[in-house]
Amino acid sequence: METSKPLRACLECEEELQGRSDKKFCDDACRTAYNNKKKARTSLYLRKVNRVLARNYKILCQLNPKGKTRLAREQLLQRGFNFNFFTNLYETQSGTRYFFVYEQGYLLLPEDQVALVRQKDYLKERLL
Ligand SMILES: [Zn+2]
Repeated sequence: METSKPLRACLECEEELQGRSDKKFCDDACRTAYNNKKKARTSLYLRKVNRVLARNYKILCQLNPKGKTRLAREQLLQRGFNFNFFTNLYETQSGTRYFFVYEQGYLLLPEDQVALVRQKDYLKERLL
């Protein structure tokens, strides 16, 4: 059913490919080079995200030693907290949304306030 396709190029070196229609690389060297670069990009991204999560987690632990507190959003930002990264969300029946970084959670309040909570039981229930 394969119709003749226009030019196919190696994903690595972009040379025109000969032979089988499912071929993606001209040879093993190009395949290996391509896959290595792809793997390196993926692990770089994972490392960056993990670093942001680790920093967020550390900040929440430092600011919330007793398991429950309330402070200005600015206090988190000053320490380098990144509100775009968290591990999970928990929404109550009434629609209140808690963001969690592992078992450290926070809730955004009016007037740029943030409530910090720690919820171990909640996570246990959902992980097992
Ligand atoms: Zn190639």
